Amino acid sequence: MSILEKLNLPSPVTQIKNPLLDEKKIQLFIKRDELIHPVIQGNKWRKLKYNLLKANNKGKKTLLSFGGAYSNHLHALAAAGKELGFKTIGIIRGEAPRVLNPCLQDMMNWGMQLKFITRLEYKQKNNPEFIKNLKTEFSDFYLIPEGGNNTAGKKGCAELLDELEDHYDVICCEVGSGTMLSSLIHTNTDPDTRFLGFAVMKNTMLNEEINASLELSKTLSDWTINHEYHFGGFAKSTPELNDFIVDFKQTYNIQLEPVYSGKMLWGILDLVKYDYFKKGSKILAIHGGGLQGLRGFKQFKEKG
Ligand SMILES: *Cc1c(COP(=O)(O)O)cnc(C)c1O
Repeated sequence: MSILEKLNLPSPVTQIKNPLLDEKKIQLFIKRDELIHPVIQGNKWRKLKYNLLKANNKGKKTLLSFGGAYSNHLHALAAAGKELGFKTIGIIRGEAPRVLNPCLQDMMNWGMQLKFITRLEYKQKNNPEFIKNLKTEFSDFYLIPEGGNNTAGKKGCAELLDELEDHYDVICCEVGSGTMLSSLIHTNTDPDTRFLGFAVMKNTMLNEEINASLELSKTLSDWTINHEYHFGGFAKSTPELNDFIVDFKQTYNIQLEPVYSGKMLWGILDLVKYDYFKKGSKILAIHGGGLQGLRGFKQFKEKG
């Protein structure tokens, strides 16, 4: 796949150093998946990879998927489609806005056909009858579920662990649907690594959902989802979180965003403060990318 040569893989790992981490004797590293590509990055590249390969192998010319009006997934898909010569169709949750936001504007500029449907209709996104109607409307396409959350998506996420050269006691990731986290739990072979997910929305069902997705017959790594740092819900932020993101960029030259990585890094450093991690722990935080999402927040608008 021609795109693979343009990607910065394996993504680099950067150590974060500050007085708090020194005092608590914690080593913190960030897996820089946001640097994989300016747009086709992070979590969403990992999930797209095998979907794109599969579509290509099946000789499909069109990719169709689902998402919200600020979807990192559809944004990456539109860019990948343009890069690889696929036609792309984005089915978007909610009425068409009078003015397209920058995310939708990019998608359209990259040739994605946008179809807006009501929130009620959107709930049908996995319903076979609904998909059949889409096939009638758009003829033949390769379907990628919302977020790239399918078996091919999990396979791509699993590759992240192969890229690690060192042992980490705790590996942290952002949790939306939990696809990344459950893929990591499944794939890990280091018995001394445990996984800590940070829920980015209020969803108390997450643990059960992830449990349901795991083959409990297998010996699995320890994992926990922390629900304390969603900042009020999905894509909700606060002035404090926004300031934290600005400071983080100034201090470490690493760009975070408020939907995912800002919440996780805030959470990790907060937990360090409260001695949640054992002294001497080596922690890896996976930056899931999604930096285009910054443009949805007033404070970051100019920086696009
Ligand atoms: C979609 C997304 C996630 C959520 O990942 P899940 O596998 O759904 O838990 C995390 N981080 C970023 C940057 C994302 O775009």
